[in-house]
Order: sequence, then structure tokens, then C-alpha cells
Amino acid sequence: ATPTALMVGTGRSAKMGILIKNGEVLEAVNDVKTVVFDKTGTITNGKPIVTDVIGDRATVLATAAALEATSEHPLATAVLAQAKADDLKVSEVSDFKAVEGKGVTALVGGKRAFVGNDKLAADSVLPDELQAQVADLQDQAKTVVYVGVENQVIGLIAIQDAPKPSSKSAIAALHARGLKTVMLTGDNVRVAQAIAKQVGIDEVIADVLPGDKADHVQALQKDGAVAFVGDGINDAPALTVADVGIAMGSGTDIAIESGGIVLVKNDLMDVDRALALSKKTFNRIK
Ligand code: ADP
Ligand code: MG
Repeated sequence: ATPTALMVGTGRSAKMGILIKNGEVLEAVNDVKTVVFDKTGTITNGKPIVTDVIGDRATVLATAAALEATSEHPLATAVLAQAKADDLKVSEVSDFKAVEGKGVTALVGGKRAFVGNDKLAADSVLPDELQAQVADLQDQAKTVVYVGVENQVIGLIAIQDAPKPSSKSAIAALHARGLKTVMLTGDNVRVAQAIAKQVGIDEVIADVLPGDKADHVQALQKDGAVAFVGDGINDAPALTVADVGIAMGSGTDIAIESGGIVLVKNDLMDVDRALALSKKTFNRIK
């Protein structure tokens, strides 16, 4: 290998906002058969907004906002922004607990309350009129969170996170290269499938617990080398396990550290550009 070609290749890509950390990555890119994407913040903007509140709007939103006040989850940010827009008073909570991959719970006004997904609401009473709306909202690519007080679901909040403008063309470009695309997400399967349809992703693996993402990448490696594209804390192990780890520049520090390639502009088209550039550079130094 001639180091000059390597430097030229990575130098040029760096100007495009594609940081390639080492030569190993360049070599692995040639063998990639599958590109796996995280959803939130990778395929989507990662800036979710509240679109619907089912139940008594003020009570449901105020309860959720109180619970989410100290959470750093993107869904929490959406709930807090809406509570602020609605001019609601957000009360203090105690005994706050984050339940990984499910949601959060705390004491609100002395009562145990929660906000999170169906797994977190599984032990609570869910009124039929609420249940009836869940699938509909999810098919509109909206994440539904359940808000409950003392084992009674009091309402639903639907939250939408739109795909990035370039996601669809980026996926199409990878398909044109003959690559398979997969979405790996902790979100619900209906929501994941609705987003996948919007951007043209081949396969969806949903309801994945944060600790299980790397295992799914390993399973996909049975069919050939895998590139994983992600941004979150929970994406770090998958970025490490993948043959090519591609981190979003807007991602968490640990994701950026774990990726062999970093996309500074957070543009998914840069996945295809990174693959093209790596191939070119690798073929030149071979
Ligand atoms: P992702 O980032 O792919 O959505 P997570 O593992 O962070 O995956 O979360 C999985 C699901 O758990 C979310 O889609 C949501 O339904 C629920 N959840 C997690 N954290 C929260 C939270 N702070 N508030 C509400 N729901 C949450
Ligand atoms: Mg993410």
C-alpha cells in the first residue's frame, strides 16, 4: 500500500466532510453487502414533534412533561416543547427512574406515573377508546407513547420524526450499488415499517432493546460484511462490531469514537459517497 494514495483519498474526503479514520476501513468497504441504519437521528432528523394528544390534553401533557423533565431522550424533548407551547405548568417529580428502551417513571404529586411504550404500559389498564387509535397513529409513522397514573393509562401522545430530506435518495443510491438496506430500531414495528416505506428501506428489525443492536449486526454478518450507520449512545457497540462503522457527526461522542468513518454533514447521501471514495482509494493503493 502506498501511504500517499491513502492520504490523498482521506484528505479529499475530509474536505467533503467525510472523515475516514484508518486504512482498515477502506479495505472492509469493498466487501460490504448490507448497510444497516439506526432510525432516530440517522434516517430521521432526530427532532421529533408532538402531533396528537389523545385524552385530556392538559392533564396528559402536563403529566408527561413532569416525567420527562430530566430525561435526555429525543421524545422527552418533544413532550417538553409541546408543554411549553401549551403554557402548561410542569410540576416537580421524585423517585425518577429511566427504564432502558421503554420509557420513564416517577412519583408525580405522590402518585406513581409513567410515560413510555407499550411494554412499559403492559401492566396497566388501557381504555378501549385509547387502544383503538394506537395502530392508526403508528401507521402514520408516529411514535405513540402511553401516559399512565397508578396503573391506569390516561392518554396517548403521538410524536413524529420526519425522515431527513436526503434519506430516500441515499437508500436508492445504495440499492443501485446492489447493497441490501436494513433499519434497526428500538421503536415500534408499525412506526418503523411506515418510515421504511417512506424512504425505501428493504428490511425492518424493530423493538430492539439498546443492548441488542450489536447482536443483530452480528447475525446479519452471516450474509457478508455489514456497514452500520448510527448516532446514539446505544449505537456504539453496533458501530464497533460492524465491518464498517459510520457515525453521524451530530451524534454522541461515544458513537463518533466508535465509528471508522464520521459523516460531518449528517447527510445520508454521504454514506454512498464514503463507500465510493473508499473503493476508489483502496483500488488505487492495492
Ligand atoms: P429509539 O431511539 O430507536 O426510539 P430507544 O431504545 O431509545 O430507541 O427507545 C425505544 C422506545 O422506548 C421509544 O420508541 C419509546 O417508545 C420508548 N421510550 C424510551 N425512552 C422514552 C422516554 N424518555 N419517553 C417516552 N418513551 C420512551
Ligand atoms: Mg439514533
